Amino acid sequence: MHNELFIADLEVRLRSSEANFLLRRYRGERNKHDQATVAMLDRDIMRVHGPHLALLEPVGNGEFRFLYAGAAIPSIGTDSLRAKETSALDNATGEFYRLGCSEADKAEDAIAVIHQTGMQASVHRWECLFLPLDDGSGQRMFAALCIARETKHEFLRNLIESLPNAVIVARPLRDGHNEIYDAALIAANLRAVEYSSHDSEEGLLATTLGHVFGETRLSSGWDRNLTVLRSGKPQIFDYHHRTEEGSRWLQVHAAPVWDGVLVSMTDITDMKRAFLELEHQKKVLMDEMEQRRGLEQELWALAHLDPLTGLPNRRAFRDAAMLKLAEAQTAHRPCAIVTIDIDHFKHVNDAFGHGAGDTVLRRVADIIKAPLRPNTDIGARMGGEEFTVLLPDTDAESAFAFAEKLRKRVEQTVVVVGEHEIRPTISLGIALNRKTTDLDDLIDRADRALYVAKRTGRNKVATEMDVQGNQAGKTAAA
Ligand code: GH3
Ligand code: MG
Ligand code: MG
Repeated sequence: MHNELFIADLEVRLRSSEANFLLRRYRGERNKHDQATVAMLDRDIMRVHGPHLALLEPVGNGEFRFLYAGAAIPSIGTDSLRAKETSALDNATGEFYRLGCSEADKAEDAIAVIHQTGMQASVHRWECLFLPLDDGSGQRMFAALCIARETKHEFLRNLIESLPNAVIVARPLRDGHNEIYDAALIAANLRAVEYSSHDSEEGLLATTLGHVFGETRLSSGWDRNLTVLRSGKPQIFDYHHRTEEGSRWLQVHAAPVWDGVLVSMTDITDMKRAFLELEHQKKVLMDEMEQRRGLEQELWALAHLDPLTGLPNRRAFRDAAMLKLAEAQTAHRPCAIVTIDIDHFKHVNDAFGHGAGDTVLRRVADIIKAPLRPNTDIGARMGGEEFTVLLPDTDAESAFAFAEKLRKRVEQTVVVVGEHEIRPTISLGIALNRKTTDLDDLIDRADRALYVAKRTGRNKVATEMDVQGNQAGKTAAA
């Protein structure tokens, strides 16, 4: 509630023709008779301005009594003002009349008050002209002419038009079960019209909020507005608004007002496009990184794995086995090595072709891989048809059992190539670490055992004891 008082320049500041007309008449009266009496409110004036006029007289204590009140003047909270005193009115209205009359009394001249009412009233602003008059017997009276200057609708319009965003105000539409099914637009600013597919405000206002946020009601924008209408809780969301001319991204603030919703929309198309572009670039970068990781893995595999069998190659084996052996030596734990060579493999190639040889190599590699303990045992293809397995924490007996298991499994394997059946066998040599040993020494001793296995018939497991026995045998034979 707010009152704005004007004492000077009334002709300029009063906007209504009614107030200006009455002011001119008042000034004329004063010029002619030196004073204006209530008689100036003649029948002609009452016919035109009666509904907007009030006549008050002072009753002391700064209060005034209504002698007359037209139907159109502000009288919130009271049925009829006639014979009422200003103290009987609601605070703001009473204050407004008291102010007008007492200021006109002080000025001894016409004054004007712009009276701003609360949102509930249909009129938002009143323009009021107060005239001090003589009742003809020297008693003071006041005429008040109150003209609606701005209605609430105009006020709302001006308010939303002044905002930088597109704004729509809507009130809920309810079905027979009192359920909100849509909302009628009651105000929209020019920017909102611009965002819509309508040419005019009237066109846009003839539609509903459901229409603005997608006819189908499947749109998330409509859901969010419905949430505001039903729960009274504000919502902020991004909305992809599509029209025949194209599409734009809107950031939408939907806030409850009265029993409806105020929807404020900001165009964030550029920002959104930049964001989506950034997301795209991020994805491209991630893909590139993924590809690079893949390439690195491939490179690593090329450097460390045998492409035919997938087993570590000689170099990878040496690096890993040296570490494992060093650990075993430090901890004084047993560590076994088994070297493996396919028997008469040259014959396989010669008889069935190189491809068949490769198949046999892969099958033998798979048999070797199967029983390895992950992160402990290391199996490798050392080259050609030769394999090696390092078995940490493994004594002679267990190593022999392991080797025998491999030998038997290979022996039981049948590789079918066309009409042919290949039955490969392998020979194996075992060596165990000693107090001082290195990898080359270990491999060398295992190879010597393997050599004995070959010499004594193949498809065999030989140990270092066999090497000694064999040498003893050789010596005896010599
Ligand atoms: P032994 O029982 O004494 O071990 O006889 P062997 O024929 O197995 O031994 P040798 O060393 O004479 O032959 C090994 C053959 O393995 C010779 C070579 O052509 C073949 N070879 C080596 N690498 C590959 C490979 O990657 N694929 C195929 N198919 N053959 C290979
Ligand atoms: Mg060989
Ligand atoms: Mg061989």
